[in-house]
Amino acid sequence: MSELAYKRTNVYEVADEKLMKEIFEYAEGYKTFIDEGKTEREACAFAVAAAKEAGYVPFEFGKKLKAGDKVYYDNRGKNLYLIKVGKGDIKKDGIRIIASHIDSPRIDLKQVPFYESDGVAFAKTHYYGGIRKYQWATIPLALHGTIALTDGTTLDVKIGEDDSDPVFCISDLLPHLAAKQNVKPLGEAIGGEDLNIWFGNIPFVAADNEKDKTVKENLLRILHEKYGVNEEDFLCAELSLVPAFKAKDIGLDRALIGAYGHDDRVCSYPAFTALFDETSDDKTVMVILADKEEIGSEGNTGMQCALFTDLIDELASSFGTTSGAIRAKSMCLSADVNAGYDPNYPDVCEKMNSAYLSHGAGITKFTGARGKSGSNDANAEFVGYLRKLFNDNGVIWQTGEMGKVDVGGGGTVAKYIANMNVDTIDIGVPVISMHSPFEVISKADLYENYLAFRAFIK
Ligand code: MN
Ligand code: MN
Repeated sequence: MSELAYKRTNVYEVADEKLMKEIFEYAEGYKTFIDEGKTEREACAFAVAAAKEAGYVPFEFGKKLKAGDKVYYDNRGKNLYLIKVGKGDIKKDGIRIIASHIDSPRIDLKQVPFYESDGVAFAKTHYYGGIRKYQWATIPLALHGTIALTDGTTLDVKIGEDDSDPVFCISDLLPHLAAKQNVKPLGEAIGGEDLNIWFGNIPFVAADNEKDKTVKENLLRILHEKYGVNEEDFLCAELSLVPAFKAKDIGLDRALIGAYGHDDRVCSYPAFTALFDETSDDKTVMVILADKEEIGSEGNTGMQCALFTDLIDELASSFGTTSGAIRAKSMCLSADVNAGYDPNYPDVCEKMNSAYLSHGAGITKFTGARGKSGSNDANAEFVGYLRKLFNDNGVIWQTGEMGKVDVGGGGTVAKYIANMNVDTIDIGVPVISMHSPFEVISKADLYENYLAFRAFIK
């Protein structure tokens, strides 16, 4: 091939023994993180604990920040801001931002969930984020979440992760009786109101009252016994069903990892570990673990919340400048996953402009749908800056779009940060089976992403 032509690099093809060792070791820490942080609350708590260990202290509004400060802002336990104040000139350099998200598509319980049907206790659900509903039937599900109690305390729930725990599930038809369901379009095979969770089957039998013989009553009694809660407490709860299985290596060569919720914790983990591991202290760095990305970055824990600019305001007042002046000089990596090219489904991707597994960190200049609608289309100059930065630092990277032009599309937090007058681009790990209960990524891409973040904040 001509030396003038562009060619992607397969990380595993060029990695020496040292790099291979680093890739595989780094993946072990990541697997621990995703197994322990299956919801935004759990991922946030994990990162807060790691931040404290790295010497970060709680941020306080109105308290001046100075060079060398390391602070964190835990926003309602679901959204985390980590700020390392650099010794360099914030007025000249702005800040380096890495923004990822820690919420993942899942099945939430409704506020009044429990009912009984023909001797079976079920829970009604309302799914969160973009899921293909049929993928969530007939797999073991764990219940994770928090109940806010009347005394002002909260109760954390996690059932289905310990080997001795029971799990939950959504049933599907047996092939013998699925003739009618089989001819439905895939998207209609199982409806939103069909995602009902099997919760119990033993009826409660009252000593003297025939009509109390219900499985729902038994279920409520178990919940009361175990957690001290009643049915009304569930009105004030955020409870989610997530896949009960743990992260696993895939393939005989263990090149890949299968797990629930790589999107987008596969970018969150490199973001905060790069911050903690990087010892250079020139740049001011902000790492954001956002919530609500999967439903449009809305609300006070999502990326559209004013907290982002409020925190930059605090930096500005600490250093005698304005939020606007800092943002104008800042740069942001919107760290989010992209669709990996899947040789099993080549029709939805355009081969030259797809991100390939094990070919490094994937830059996505624009997301959006059709004519780039709804996308932050990053400036060529910013891509050029990163190209040089990554090449100079030996980071293996590639570019890729989210599928063929007219096939579909998607979005990330990038546009909300770019709208704040910050140079922003999407970069992340290519994912196979995105938004399914068992997504697949490459360990090599995970590690190259980490190296890219290190280079960016150095
Ligand atoms: Mn994402
Ligand atoms: Mn997503």
